[in-house]
Amino acid sequence: MKGGKLIIFSAPSGSGKTTIVRYLLEQPELNLAFSVSATSRPRRGKEKHKEHYYFMTVSEFKQHIKNDDFLEWEEVYRDNFYGTLKSEVARLWAEGKNVIFDIDVVGGLRIKKKYPKETLAVFVKPPSVDELKIRLKKRSTESDDKINMRIAKASVELATAPQFDKVIKNYDLDVALKEAHQLVAQFVNDPVSDEEE
Ligand code: 5GP
Repeated sequence: MKGGKLIIFSAPSGSGKTTIVRYLLEQPELNLAFSVSATSRPRRGKEKHKEHYYFMTVSEFKQHIKNDDFLEWEEVYRDNFYGTLKSEVARLWAEGKNVIFDIDVVGGLRIKKKYPKETLAVFVKPPSVDELKIRLKKRSTESDDKINMRIAKASVELATAPQFDKVIKNYDLDVALKEAHQLVAQFVNDPVSDEEE
């Protein structure tokens, strides 16, 4: 696959990365398009098929794994698979877009490894694990069990921050948005060198 740039935003659930990604998608000069992931988790609230995720059953997801259709995939929570379809990135690159991802830290780092020069991997850091808990409870789209599962995962994820190209602290949203915009603008305007690694 050849094309534009890949911009990854990874962070523990509730860190505000989705807000940052949405904001960046509204900046026309960045020429970004959102990579819609595939997932086997149930739909939440007003989520739409093909817009927020390609929703599928566990067995459909496993068939795509067998077919080697994924750039990366992960069982993020038990029986809740998430993955980036190769066809999704190919489609957006064919449209001449830079692709932006809102994905799990492990998946983000896998893409960075596959496309080191084309990828900017950004980690969004929440103020604290306690603050994460408050944010997830406010969102109140999930049961306490699910929220606790996400909190447990957050501590593990926070330890991966140094492996990312950049870390943005989301303590103040306006500051984080500005910083994210600057980083991405600079990266999408830098040419990718043609030399092989
Ligand atoms: P949620 O269920 O809240 O939409 O997402 C749960 C977690 O899965 C989040 O950390 C989200 O970033 C991650 N995720 C979403 N899509 C993908 C994907 O394609 N690959 C991987 N590895 N993680 C993903």
